[in-house]
Amino acid sequence: MAEIKELFQSADWKKEKHVPVIEAPEKLRKGELLKITVSVGKEISHPNTTEHHIRWIEAYFLPDGEKFPYQVARFEFTAHGESTQGPNTSTVFTNPEVSASLKSDKSGTILASSYCNIHGVWQNSKKITVE
Ligand code: FE
Repeated sequence: MAEIKELFQSADWKKEKHVPVIEAPEKLRKGELLKITVSVGKEISHPNTTEHHIRWIEAYFLPDGEKFPYQVARFEFTAHGESTQGPNTSTVFTNPEVSASLKSDKSGTILASSYCNIHGVWQNSKKITVE
């Protein structure tokens, strides 16, 4: 039986354009807002057309020593060049880059996932220390 976790692909984001890139401070003080930016295509740009684009990005935070992650944000990208004239005829394309913030008293890991409409789901993570 196939398991969904087996479908999440990962790679070096500098070489593989689908990997969500997480930008966040590695260390922060307790009580401080943890600001994160997640994007797809930072090093090698991903196509952004009606036929081929990033549909969504999600971010989770897993505090150290805990079993279950907390979903922090979910963004859906819904403008991909469509208009009444057909595919790729509007001038509006949402760009797959999002920002969110959270507070955590514990250190942990940011986990991000993204979905390309034809290349599936991708993941990345980044360790954060809260002092
Ligand atoms: Fe793709």
